[in-house]
Amino acid sequence: MAALEGVAAAPGLGIGSVMIITDPSLDYTPRTVEDAPAEKERLRRAIDAFSELTREKAAVVRERVGDAEAAILEGHILIIADPYMVAEMEGLIDAGQCAEAALDQICEMFATMFEAADDDLTRQRAADVRDIKSGVLCQLLGVREVDVSCVPQGTVLVTHDLVPSMTAGLDRENVVGIVTETGGMTSHSAILARALEIPAVLAVPGAVDLLAEGATVVVDGTEGVVLADPDEGALSQARARREQYLRKKEALQRFVGKKTVTADGCQVELFGNIGSLEDARAVVANDGEGVGLFRTEFLFMDGGAMPTEEEQFRAYQQAALIMKGRPVIIRTLDIGGDKDIPYLGLEKEENPFLGFRAIRYCLAREDVFRTQLRALLRASAYGDVRIMVPLVTGVEELRQVRALIRRYAEEFDREGVACNKDVPVGVMIETPAAALTADILAREADFFSIGTNDLTGYTMAVDRGNDRVRYLYSTFHPAVLRSIRSVIAAGLAAGIPVGMCGEAAADPLLVPLWISFGLTEYSVSPASILATRATIAKWSASDTDKLAGKVMAASTPSEAYDLLKAVAR
Ligand code: PEP
Ligand code: MG
Repeated sequence: MAALEGVAAAPGLGIGSVMIITDPSLDYTPRTVEDAPAEKERLRRAIDAFSELTREKAAVVRERVGDAEAAILEGHILIIADPYMVAEMEGLIDAGQCAEAALDQICEMFATMFEAADDDLTRQRAADVRDIKSGVLCQLLGVREVDVSCVPQGTVLVTHDLVPSMTAGLDRENVVGIVTETGGMTSHSAILARALEIPAVLAVPGAVDLLAEGATVVVDGTEGVVLADPDEGALSQARARREQYLRKKEALQRFVGKKTVTADGCQVELFGNIGSLEDARAVVANDGEGVGLFRTEFLFMDGGAMPTEEEQFRAYQQAALIMKGRPVIIRTLDIGGDKDIPYLGLEKEENPFLGFRAIRYCLAREDVFRTQLRALLRASAYGDVRIMVPLVTGVEELRQVRALIRRYAEEFDREGVACNKDVPVGVMIETPAAALTADILAREADFFSIGTNDLTGYTMAVDRGNDRVRYLYSTFHPAVLRSIRSVIAAGLAAGIPVGMCGEAAADPLLVPLWISFGLTEYSVSPASILATRATIAKWSASDTDKLAGKVMAASTPSEAYDLLKAVAR
C-alpha cells in the first residue's frame, strides 16, 4: 500500500480501478510492400474496425450528449466510406506503399485541400479528416485508443494532464476518480472535475508510472491523497469516510428553498458556474438562483467544428429557459491560455496566458464573435440573459463590444427578429489592469464579476497551471485581497452589482471576507451552491468586519490564511 500526495482538487472519495491514459504514439516506419492485395485487405479491415467503433461511440454520444455531436461522429464514417478516397489509398498500396503511409498521405492531401477552401464549413472538414486518420492508424498499429466518454464502471482515470476537451466528454456515471500529474486547484480540469462531482487529486508526481493499470486505488479528493493497493483495513476506512462525506452532503439539503442570507439578514445572490446545459440543470437541482458564469468555450470544444449561430442560439436559449427567467450571465468565448480549440487555428505562443486569448481573440476575429453575439442577442429574448466579457484590460474593449452588440441588434430590428437591445453587458475583473481601473470601468459596465482564478495568477505573475511556481499562487496574498476589496468598493460606489465567479467565491475560509467587502453575488460550481449558502448563513456582517480588519493587516498569505482558518465555521 502506498500513499501519494497531490492537490485536493475536487472533494469526495472514489474507490475504483486504475485506467491509464497516455497519448498514443502513432509513429510508424514506412515499408515497401510486395503483397499489395493483402495490404489492401489490411487497410479495409482497419477501416471497418474504425467505422464499427465510431458507430458504437456515436450511439453513446447520442444518448448522453445529443444528436448534433453524434452526427459529427457519423459523418466520419461517411467520409472514410468515400470510394474515391479509399481507391486513392489503394492506388498507393499498388505502387508499393504500406497501408499506414497510403492512409497518411491521402488523408493529408484531403485535409490540405479542405484547409484551402473559402468557406468555414469546408475548412473545418480538415480536422475531421485528421481525426479519421488517427482513428484508422490506431487500428493499423494496434494502439488502443482510450475513449473517456465510454469506460467501465468504477474507473479511476490516471493521466499526465486531463485537458478540458477530454474532461468535457467524460463519462460521469462510470468515472469515480481522477488523478493527474499536473494542474492546480483552478486549472480547468479541476473546475470540470468539481462540476462533474468526481473526486480528483491533481499534481501527483509520477502518478502514471507509479499506479498500475487495473490496480485498486482510493482517490481522496478532500485530502489530496491517493492510496494505491489499499489493504482491507484501509479500504473499509475509506468506505466509511465516503459514507460520512455523503451524509454531510445530504445534510445540506435543508438549505434548499432558503434565501441566501447572512446571520444578520443581509441577502446576497448565489449563482452557479456552468459549461453545459447539463450543468445548468445541476444549478437548478442544487437550488441556485441563476447562472453567474456560462463558460461558452466548452460548446466550442464539443465537436470538430465551430458551432453555428443556430446551434449556439439553441444552447443559450435552452440555458435561459432552464433557468426560467432567473439571471443567466453568459461569458463570450474565452479561448487561449490553457483552453485550445484545434480548429480555430490558434498559433502556439511563448506565453499563452499573456497572449492572444479571450476578448483579444474575439475582437480580432469578427466572424467568430459576430456569430456568438448574434446568438446571444437572439437568446436574450427568452430570459434574463446578460453578456460578460472576459480578460478585459481597458474600457475601449468594452466600448467595442457594446458597439458590435448595438450593430447586430439594429440588424435584428430591421429583420424583425426579437432580442433585448438593452441586454446588460458586464466585465470580468481578472487582470490587474481592470482591477486598478475598476472605477473607470464601473462607469460603463452594467456589472462586474471578479475572476479570482486569473486575477490571482496575473496579480502574482504566476501561471496557474505551472507546478514549479504554484506555491506563489494564493488568493490569500495581501495583493490579491486588496485588489478584490478595492474592485468591490469601486463597483458599489458606482451602484453596479459586483459578483465573483472564480473558485474563491466558494472557499469557506474566504467567504467572511467577501461578506465584509460587500460582494453582492457569488457564483460557484453547482455542487458547491448549498455549502456556500450554509457558510454565508453562519456569519453576521459585524463579525466579518472585525475579522476582515485583522486579515487585511496581515503581512503574508499564510498569516491571512491562519487567521481565517482559526475562525472557520
Ligand atoms: C476566473 O479566471 O476566475 C474565471 C472564473 O474564469 P476561468 O476560470 O474560466 O478563466
Ligand atoms: Mg478567467
